Amino acid sequence: MPVRHLRRNGASMCKIARPVQPRDPNSPDATAAMNERLHNINVLSSEILPTPEEIKRSLPLPAASEEFVYRSRSALQRILDREDPRVFVVMGPCSIHDTAAAREYAMRLRGLAERVEGTMQLLMRVYFEKPRTTVGWKGLINDPDMDDSFHIEKGICQARELLLFLAAQGVPAATEALDPIMPQYLSELVSWTAIGARTTESQTHREMASGLSTPVGFKNGTDGSLAVAVNALQSARHPHHFLGITQQGQSAVFRTRGNRYGHIVLRGGGGRSNYDSVNIALCERELEKAGLPANIVVDCSHGNSAKDPGLQPLVAENLVNQILEGNTSIVGLMLESNLHWGSQPIPANRSELQYGVSVTDACIDWETTEGLLQSLDARLRLAPRFARGTAAA
Ligand code: PEP
Ligand code: MN
Repeated sequence: MPVRHLRRNGASMCKIARPVQPRDPNSPDATAAMNERLHNINVLSSEILPTPEEIKRSLPLPAASEEFVYRSRSALQRILDREDPRVFVVMGPCSIHDTAAAREYAMRLRGLAERVEGTMQLLMRVYFEKPRTTVGWKGLINDPDMDDSFHIEKGICQARELLLFLAAQGVPAATEALDPIMPQYLSELVSWTAIGARTTESQTHREMASGLSTPVGFKNGTDGSLAVAVNALQSARHPHHFLGITQQGQSAVFRTRGNRYGHIVLRGGGGRSNYDSVNIALCERELEKAGLPANIVVDCSHGNSAKDPGLQPLVAENLVNQILEGNTSIVGLMLESNLHWGSQPIPANRSELQYGVSVTDACIDWETTEGLLQSLDARLRLAPRFARGTAAA
């Protein structure tokens, strides 16, 4: 199997100088080549990536941004610990494919966040990795040029540059962790992490979550079942031992502490929604049975809106109705929102992409998002959990 070290010919935005290594006849790859009838039969090639440390040297985290991410995570922890009665809102495109449009969205979100901060903590969805039911574009990191050229190094750099921009602008970032190596490249810039519906049952993802430094939301299964997410929460709270890579790119055994800021994210599924008060009560019961805190985030999109973006505001307003009626378990919600409404297929000619329109799930537009958040804010102010001096129990 040929092993190729990436040549940095200017295609990447990272400035990392590392010479292409000559093939060492004593290297493990050379040994593997001798077993070529047995080993990596279906692997065509591999390319050496820069290590997390090299990427970070090229795109470092400034001290002010470190402080910002730390404070953003603490704000979420306070919400999950019920020391802060607000609701956190993970909002933004289903996936990031155009970082210029993402920057524009972030600046709008920042302005809105200030206006609604009395009742809500806003975070931007910056999803760089897309799990697919079968096949399809797997996100900016995997294929930043959207043409099956799979320039993963370029994708990592673009993702990191966008996350650095967000932290510098004071916009907390929320992302889905799909590849178990990727957090080593990006995670100190992230304030909230999702484990998707297709991977909540995966041991690898539960182990990873047990070591992540952010609160982690586990989606319920695509069939709507809560059990996989409840099992995942129990698993991720515990210490684990598993394989990973260090900042220097060396494979290593990681021992984790366990993550006590795991929570469920209800996303509907199996043709049914699960955001209504009966499903919330059933979920509370399952969490209690498992000895877990009653912290519930609701994804207003996906199975909860039958993928019709126009239904997302109705779901969000329904959640606020529940909170007004005294609900204390709903601590967050998720919206798929973009500069413009709907979605578009990825055109053969990339110059035909419509600016600010999703290339994965359909989103509500900015005007709808802003109007919705202002309405939620006005109504939430009246909720029992915001009554003076009484943080929600
Ligand atoms: C998503 O958040 O875009 C997504 C794919 O969610 P889920 O894992 O719930 O399908
Ligand atoms: Mn989506």
